[in-house]
Amino acid sequence: MKIAMVGSGYVGLVSGACFADFGHDVVCIDKDASKIERLREGIMPIYEPGLDALVENNARAGRLSFTTDLAEGIEGAGAIFIAVGTPSRRGDGHADLSFVHAVAREVGESLVNDAVVVTKSTVPVGTGDEVERILMESAAVRDRGLKVAVVSNPEFLREGAAIGDFKRPDRIVIGAEDDFGRDVMREVYRPLFLNESPILFVGRRTSELIKYAANAFLATKITFINEIADLCEKVGANVQDVARGIGMDNRIGSKFLHAGPGYGGSCFPKDTLALLKTAEDYDSPTRIVEAVVKVNDSRKRAMGRKVVEALGGLDAARGKRVAMLGLTFKPNTDDMRDSPAIAVAQTLADAGVEIAAYDPEGMEIAAPLMPEVEMKDDPYAAIEGADAVVIVTEWDVFRALDLTRVKQLAKSPVLVDLRNIYTPADVREAGFHYTSVGRE
Ligand code: NAD
Repeated sequence: MKIAMVGSGYVGLVSGACFADFGHDVVCIDKDASKIERLREGIMPIYEPGLDALVENNARAGRLSFTTDLAEGIEGAGAIFIAVGTPSRRGDGHADLSFVHAVAREVGESLVNDAVVVTKSTVPVGTGDEVERILMESAAVRDRGLKVAVVSNPEFLREGAAIGDFKRPDRIVIGAEDDFGRDVMREVYRPLFLNESPILFVGRRTSELIKYAANAFLATKITFINEIADLCEKVGANVQDVARGIGMDNRIGSKFLHAGPGYGGSCFPKDTLALLKTAEDYDSPTRIVEAVVKVNDSRKRAMGRKVVEALGGLDAARGKRVAMLGLTFKPNTDDMRDSPAIAVAQTLADAGVEIAAYDPEGMEIAAPLMPEVEMKDDPYAAIEGADAVVIVTEWDVFRALDLTRVKQLAKSPVLVDLRNIYTPADVREAGFHYTSVGRE
């Protein structure tokens, strides 16, 4: 089947390349001409493990191509995916649907054949209804008498593990209101069907809500264990053991129970906010999610204060130097959107602390977001002369630092591990003052 993917960012590009790898004929469309130009030259606009090879192989096989021309890209496509951004709207936290609506209008104007239009972007309940209205009101669809269905197919992939997640998903959720939509989606996902990936067919509004409910639940799990971590610090318990102890209960599950600096990234912060707005609009408060958003917001700066504390408090911290290791919101991505590192750095800068940093993939994007931070070429260059070393993101390269070298290069042997990747006893034995999250 020919598939058009409108929006070639983290989700659109990975999904498009994976669909091509399944054997579909995929055109990835983006209005960013330089992104499309680079993709045609085999240069990836994002860092995602394995993506460059996947794109190259499928482009070479003639199954994957790139264009800025939407009309040309969607011609003959049986399924047209919308995978553009839905950021928080400035001011009120609602999901900004202007990109989704713009694509719907453009598709409506250019469509020449029957097609299923699929929202893969994370969109609030009712967006599919609006996309359908836009399409049905478009002159092209009406005048040509085209058959069009609008389907919701939220994406659950994780950045950093996106290809594996897309090809071996826990489930595929499809929200469709008619057989045309369901049949085309079955065809799109046939290769995964054969792989026995569970496919859940539900109503369109239900599907839209599943995505928000999933992200809000995961954000809640993270926030829950973060608060338990704070309590652990007060009562002398170990949060990793608590997480293990509760996670071994199948009803709870062990995932997303890692205490740390709070969730960030391109999804949880904006999706929890958007869910709150939907709940408010429908006069059906989601108080647990409200609390999660508040607790997580204050946590990021609290982690900055933890570092200040390790430097000896506010007075002592002024003029000192910190090495931040890791800036992206999680490892194996270059995504800096809402990364806790931004708030940690801001808190440190507010306290008059100088900051040097190293991140394996995120520094180019991070630099303009964190003008107060001096970017270094490797972890040890950032550590040189530091009064404290702070692990903010758990990239593998930080898991086995040469502690002897760290101690020689740093001004003081202070290590703040916001991801609990070191064993306290080992680091203390190496002569460090060690602080982590929810552990003594
Ligand atoms: P992104 O910002 O990386 O990519 C969006 C792309 O859409 C950009 O390249 C932009 O140029 C393009 N675009 C915008 N308007 C366009 C138009 N009119 N025509 C063509 N292209 C256009 O965003 P993303 O991270 O891929 O997220 C996309 C959606 O998927 C969001 O709704 C997000 O919430 C959701 N999502 C993201 C993830 C993730 O891990 N990033 C996971 C699941 C779901």
